[in-house]
Amino acid sequence: MDTLTTMPVGLVEVMVRRGDRMGAMLGEPTSSPGLFIVPDPGSDGVTWTGNFCVVHSASGHTAVRPTALAYAREVAEQLAESGVDWTRPLKELHTRDEAKDAYLRVMLALDAAEDTGTPLRWARLSWRQHPPLYRILGDRYYDDVVFRGWPELVDWLDQLVEDYWSPSPTPTARVVRDTNPAWQLVCAAPLCGHRRREPAAVHFTTEDGDEFEGITSERHELVEAAAYEGWRDVDGEHWMCPHCSAAHPKRTEWERC
Ligand SMILES: [Zn+2]
Repeated sequence: MDTLTTMPVGLVEVMVRRGDRMGAMLGEPTSSPGLFIVPDPGSDGVTWTGNFCVVHSASGHTAVRPTALAYAREVAEQLAESGVDWTRPLKELHTRDEAKDAYLRVMLALDAAEDTGTPLRWARLSWRQHPPLYRILGDRYYDDVVFRGWPELVDWLDQLVEDYWSPSPTPTARVVRDTNPAWQLVCAAPLCGHRRREPAAVHFTTEDGDEFEGITSERHELVEAAAYEGWRDVDGEHWMCPHCSAAHPKRTEWERC
């Protein structure tokens, strides 16, 4: 029975080689049909280390040294994107230059990534530009409240009408459009929001503790909110959300040896 699948629909049984023995483990499918991710059983074979391996299922060999789950997923994704058919037997892959080149390229990327505690490659720039915002001016209560467009403004007014506790807007208040673009700060890691595929974004918090997605013409406000939420600024253009920062541990000197 062929239980291997190209779609990540669930864990599947994979045969993994440990020394001269083969044993079954549950593996996470990757976008390459021949590669799976399994937990690292450690050198004694009976103790989880907390790391993960990419396994070449046709041979049962681990293709990559044990590493953090995020790195293992990125390695598998890049090997899959190389166009090499990783379902082929190991002996055949060893004779193919494109397979060896792809493998070496990804291993070097993994080394560099682990040394800096960053992904193998960035998925996007963190600064996401939006059209200028609409802004309320001249209102006693709602001055500087902003909206991304008229529909959002109309929704807000509808809610305000039904909210008997909130004061009505000042009749002389105006809605103007900013001249500068608005900005959003999103996580640049490739697998952020793994299954839903929408990366994490910096949030603003109201005085009541309510959170909402931060979109503003003032980039420094996003920088301050990111610092408050524990985001990591890697180089000014690429930021990592707290989850992705923790998922990409930096290799220590000891581990590098
Ligand atoms: Zn992230």
